[in-house]
Amino acid sequence: MLEIASKMRTLCFPPRCVNCRTEIGQSKIRQNQYRGKHATSLHQHERLTSLLESHWCDRCFPNLVHQDLATCWTCGAQLNQQSPLGIRCALCFKKNFRFTRAISLGNYQGQLQQLVIRMKNQHDEPLTIQLGNLLANQLIDSELFENIDLITAVPTHWWRRLKRGFQAAEMIAETIAHEVDRQFRPEILKCQRSTKKQGTLASTARQKNVQNAFSVNRSTSLQGANVLLIDDVMTSGATVNEISRILLRSGVEKVYVGVIARGARVS
Ligand SMILES: [Zn+2]
Ligand SMILES: [Zn+2]
Repeated sequence: MLEIASKMRTLCFPPRCVNCRTEIGQSKIRQNQYRGKHATSLHQHERLTSLLESHWCDRCFPNLVHQDLATCWTCGAQLNQQSPLGIRCALCFKKNFRFTRAISLGNYQGQLQQLVIRMKNQHDEPLTIQLGNLLANQLIDSELFENIDLITAVPTHWWRRLKRGFQAAEMIAETIAHEVDRQFRPEILKCQRSTKKQGTLASTARQKNVQNAFSVNRSTSLQGANVLLIDDVMTSGATVNEISRILLRSGVEKVYVGVIARGARVS
């Protein structure tokens, strides 16, 4: 009965690409439904790829997957050319971040930049979830998820939460936790004071802006845990670096970072 209802819904409201709204071919959806029934026996990657193909069209999906580009191992930035500094970009070479490694879908430019702006400005929940699925796919590809015990998100001050309602980082983190089968723990971090938007500040002011702005919930034991910290965009890395500092001080073993886009100009 549920299957008939689902087929009727697909006929009346054919699924469209979350980016360009192009209708997604019926043959692909039928194939995905078939695969879905056997999801437990398939590799997570295949299941997630199938899920992504039913939400992004053939034109938009390849634009969001740039596996051929050189990527900074530490901060996840895509490099224009092979870096003379090896697997670290110029920023990471100078900065010495406290987190172990960050991954992103790509640099904050072109189609990815437009998608992030739409996600944040229009509070587009279906798009946010599909961007989260893309990042989950990246985590599986990099085999990084095998090291992770729990997933959390960069917290927002209660006043901004009340004003905005929509929390992109939290929604992305929850989507990833579901896909890679790890605990989603938004309660472990708290934003203690309102901070200015990092994008509006010069790089030296960004570190000061977030210094001691966050706290770790003391009622939770994080001893020895490996944490994946999610944000929508990472620019100078000051916010995720500050949160990594307090998580490590609270007994966390390693912090990994996942962002939709990497905003710094790197080479
Ligand atoms: Zn599309
Ligand atoms: Zn880097």
